[in-house]
Amino acid sequence: MSNVILEGIFLKRSQQKKKTSPLNFKKRLFLLTESKLSYYEYDFERGRRGSKKGSVDIEKITCVETVVPETNPPPERRVPQKGEDLNETEQISIIERFPYPFQVLYDEGPLYVFSPTEDLRSRWIHQLKKVIRYNSNLVQKYHPCFWTDGVYLCCSQTAKLAMGCKIVESRSGSFRNVRSHHKVEKPLPPTPEEDQMMKKPLPPEPTASSSSKMKKVVALYDYTPMNEQDLQLQKGEEYIILEESNELWWRAQSQNGAEGYIPSNYVTETRDSLEMFEWYLKNITRRQAEQFLKQEGKDGGFIVRDCTRKTGKYTVSVFAKSAGEPQGMIRHYVVCSTPQNQYFLAEKHLFNTIPELINYHQHNSAGLISRLKYAVSSKQKMAPSTAGLGYGAWEIEPKDLTFLKELGVGQFGVVKHGKWKGQYDVAIKMIKEGSMSEDAFIDEAKVMMNLSHEKLVQLFGVCTKERPILIVTEYLALGCLLTYLRDTRRSFQSTELLEMCKDVCEAMEYLESKQFLHRDLAARNCLVHKQGTIKVSDFGLSRYVLDDDYISSMGSKFPVRWSPPEVLLYSKFSSKSDIWAFGVLMWEVYTLGKMPYERFNNSETTEHVTKGLRLYRPQLASDRVYSIMYSCWHEKAEERPTFQALLGNILDLANEDP
Ligand code: ADP
Ligand code: MG
Repeated sequence: MSNVILEGIFLKRSQQKKKTSPLNFKKRLFLLTESKLSYYEYDFERGRRGSKKGSVDIEKITCVETVVPETNPPPERRVPQKGEDLNETEQISIIERFPYPFQVLYDEGPLYVFSPTEDLRSRWIHQLKKVIRYNSNLVQKYHPCFWTDGVYLCCSQTAKLAMGCKIVESRSGSFRNVRSHHKVEKPLPPTPEEDQMMKKPLPPEPTASSSSKMKKVVALYDYTPMNEQDLQLQKGEEYIILEESNELWWRAQSQNGAEGYIPSNYVTETRDSLEMFEWYLKNITRRQAEQFLKQEGKDGGFIVRDCTRKTGKYTVSVFAKSAGEPQGMIRHYVVCSTPQNQYFLAEKHLFNTIPELINYHQHNSAGLISRLKYAVSSKQKMAPSTAGLGYGAWEIEPKDLTFLKELGVGQFGVVKHGKWKGQYDVAIKMIKEGSMSEDAFIDEAKVMMNLSHEKLVQLFGVCTKERPILIVTEYLALGCLLTYLRDTRRSFQSTELLEMCKDVCEAMEYLESKQFLHRDLAARNCLVHKQGTIKVSDFGLSRYVLDDDYISSMGSKFPVRWSPPEVLLYSKFSSKSDIWAFGVLMWEVYTLGKMPYERFNNSETTEHVTKGLRLYRPQLASDRVYSIMYSCWHEKAEERPTFQALLGNILDLANEDP
């Protein structure tokens, strides 16, 4: 078989051979090679390809385009609305919605395929257009809408093979299939999405009169371009956004007219955003604020932080040294607001904005234990990871990597610390031959690259041109969480343990929002950053393990101790099995790395857990902490909370007065 170019799970609409035969939609695994587009059954429980259900010869394809969505699609083909609860339905794969249709036209009519994301649809359309570009039968017209119950919804023609009603246009306006037959790589005509992007009102040239309409951002951090397509950012400078079709990399223009891509997490939209200020630290707890203030030890040191997530209020934490207390003392002041939306702190001096309020108290203590003399948080504001090493760079050149010391050995083989371009720290997984279904992973890696969150170990890219293939990720200097917890030279306050759980829960809430299952959440798959922040690693990777001991729930390497009854009994994975594993991870944290159900072997564990046995309350866990982890172990999956709800509970606890 020729090489697989793309592989992905989509929803396929039945071909509706007779005009009135009912339509059905099935999840299928699609494989694209140079010669065929084939689709297979997919075994979601095992994560494996099943029997072949059909295929289309590439040379017979005449057109590939998007389709105008149905007017009233059912939930599984509807673009999720903001606030809609996506966790109601038990999902058995990462994919449960397919709102983005495209069509592959060939001599039997249109094949309609629905993609879970817009991005994936673009990629497939792009690749399909690439493989068909030398076909001699490409059409100049197509139907933008579905053929349903014997009629095209766009032009009311009733023959399935009726000529299209809309011209396939390329950017220059010429027909797409006017081309030479020499096999030279030409730039592809734009996909419909690209066309769309082109049609978006282009930002006008930056002139004084029009500049107010353009989206402007301010850089929060310096950014050095990682490739030729990137644009340099200078902290505090303004940039104009030209395009934001990619959530993580925006095309921007600097004030001197230079253009290029920037990481969207390095900028903020307005100058009033608190993130602009040295004194603001967004996501820290009371204890962390105290820790930073004490470390700095400066009289008048202060931090502004979020009070709790729910209220949207802010707290100012201040450190002061006085003759009576040489150790220093810390006070926390909640920023109060009036019904007229004005702010005040200790006394009733009212301000319209928080920066104005802080500015005032930088000059007047006015009731605080000290004037706000010194913004402590500036040192803690490290630039976050970018989603990849530069825009569009997911294939990493092996020559850009230098290998340093070995970090450990995992399921896929050796993991090493290294440098990219001699400068950026990275971790490199060298994938042992035969340990991973590589093609499937390489395809998924592009999706995973788009997962980007402060508390997730960032995937930077892959080297697939040579063997062994390499997976390049963010490097975390303090290594694996389990080892960190077990290290007896360290001691942890219970608040620190709660913060570890909070970090993991933030990452998981993000994955939940992306409908992405981790499938192997455990302390061994979390890593520790400088300053003790925890990040979640290895998300989704277990699907590509080739090792029966690991895949089968009876296997010796299967994470039995992190699995809920429905996984142990029926291999039913869902966001709720991740929740269960999170509860077990909390237990690992509060026992400083004990093995769950340590007195049982795997099959005894299965037996006890399915009968209702649960882990005991660790000594370091308060009743409230235990009730949070316990809620993850509800026998009925649907009764378990969401990560969003869990995070709310954890934050409430973390921000309470001791
Ligand atoms: P696998 O996922 O193949 O099982 P692991 O992720 O468990 O491999 O990696 C093995 C060990 O390598 C870990 O226990 C950890 O100590 C180290 N390690 C892995 N990734 C990183 C990283 N990004 N930064 C620092 N250390 C890492
Ligand atoms: Mg691992």
